[in-house]
Amino acid sequence: MLCSRIRTALSARLDGEALPPGLTARRLDVHLAGCQDCRRWDARARALTAAVGSAAAHDDEAAASAGDGGPASVEALLARLRPGRRAG
Ligand SMILES: [Zn+2]
Repeated sequence: MLCSRIRTALSARLDGEALPPGLTARRLDVHLAGCQDCRRWDARARALTAAVGSAAAHDDEAAASAGDGGPASVEALLARLRPGRRAG
């Protein structure tokens, strides 16, 4: 099994896409178990995917709050909802 094919499939799996024909999750795992290079590649790809995912989530939050008066008003709302600490 060629590492390049394995990595293509690993990338597809990370993206939630279908695996290339002829490859199964089990075959990927068997290859990873015996191939340190691909294990490293998979770890790096996962880290990248996680970083991209959190960046996208952040953009969504920014976009959502922008149409709603901005983060300042959200903070004000939350402050009102929070059980206030009594001064003193
Ligand atoms: Zn490999």
